[in-house]
Amino acid sequence: MTVWAVLVAAGRGERLGLDQPKAFAKLGEDPLLAEPLRRLDDSAWVDSIVVVAPAGWEEPSILLAEELGCGKVRACVAGGAERADSVRNGLAEVPDDAVAVLVHDAARPLVTDDVVERVLAPLSEGWDGVVPGLQVADTLKRVGGDGAVAETVAREGLWAVQTPQAFPPDVLRRALASHPGGTDCAASVEAAGGRVKVVAGDPKLLKVTTREDLARIASWL
Ligand code: C5P
Repeated sequence: MTVWAVLVAAGRGERLGLDQPKAFAKLGEDPLLAEPLRRLDDSAWVDSIVVVAPAGWEEPSILLAEELGCGKVRACVAGGAERADSVRNGLAEVPDDAVAVLVHDAARPLVTDDVVERVLAPLSEGWDGVVPGLQVADTLKRVGGDGAVAETVAREGLWAVQTPQAFPPDVLRRALASHPGGTDCAASVEAAGGRVKVVAGDPKLLKVTTREDLARIASWL
């Protein structure tokens, strides 16, 4: 009865403008990947970890895990073209008897044990997926390519969703096989007819997209 984490780190991170993948951008002294890896390895809720590395970066990723003493890393596999491909590659390493799988973006380094606990707990109530989210506070507008506002979108009931996202492994496997599109795993589970619950996320689970995001997260560490 084990909980597995699939840490997806295979994005290119083009908007950072670096000549290495985002997971190896520096956050303080270490590569970005080090922070979420260390935190998941330290988590009391996580038994085993699969790292999904950028293609060609499997060896540096394994070396990093060894340097950090992350003893829960069971496999390191190369990612695919899209995030869903990377998740599928990681999920292939998760055994059938795993009780839950957490899929986490390495680009959100500040994962905490509290949020891991919040997404895992409702799985025992029969949910097909549990995701952390923040209620949208800003007014939302759909804007055309010329900058003109096309419409104001009612924000009632809208949440911005983060990772880690928790699923029964077989539910996620089937959903990704039948509905691979979507920008997060929960979208596949929803499209496959699954019931997904949103729990409180964490503003510090910011996803690194730009250099400014890296600087902000470094200042929080
Ligand atoms: O591209 P985006 O910011 O949505 O990526 C979210 C997470 O998914 C990142 O941690 C990134 O490394 C990962 N990813 C991946 N394989 C891809 C694209 C993104 O592992 N092909």
